[in-house]
Amino acid sequence: MKLSERIVAWARLKSPWIILFNSGACNACDIEVIAAITPRFDVERFGILAKSSPRHGDILVVTGPVTRKQVKRLRMIYDQMPEPKYVIAMGACGATGGVFRGLYHVVDGVDQVIPVDMFVAGCPPRPDEIIDGVVKCLELMKADMKNGGKAWRVKAPAPAAEPKPAAVPGTEVTA
Ligand code: SF4
Repeated sequence: MKLSERIVAWARLKSPWIILFNSGACNACDIEVIAAITPRFDVERFGILAKSSPRHGDILVVTGPVTRKQVKRLRMIYDQMPEPKYVIAMGACGATGGVFRGLYHVVDGVDQVIPVDMFVAGCPPRPDEIIDGVVKCLELMKADMKNGGKAWRVKAPAPAAEPKPAAVPGTEVTA
């Protein structure tokens, strides 16, 4: 790894920036994530900052199941993030679709659309569990960097195949 790459890697590990994306959540997971990044729980003490542009993001935090309308948007946001990038799927919905699993308008968990590195259990997860998930993701990033793992390679991983919507008469997505 070149010196400039090592400096960028050091900065990203010291202060990773997270992007929050609601792919169809009921909002309870989002409220808990907001609690985690605001002063009461204060995830910034670990150097973790919430940002709005995926082009500046290191970790994508996704809440909810993925609705069919959000599949393309989620994929686009993921593709815009620079390598190395990590994804945390929040709550039961992010892992499997949760209470929405199998419904006509969702493709279930986040890993049906993009690769997921970490799952945080709960419905919704508590802020301390969310912080624990993010810190564990940081440990994974450090381990990957040390071992030459997936995160620190130059080329992006092959995009996941976009799931095909089930044909349910009268519920086709047009936009
Ligand atoms: S896991 Fe629970 S709280 Fe989170 S989006 Fe799903 S239903 Fe809502």
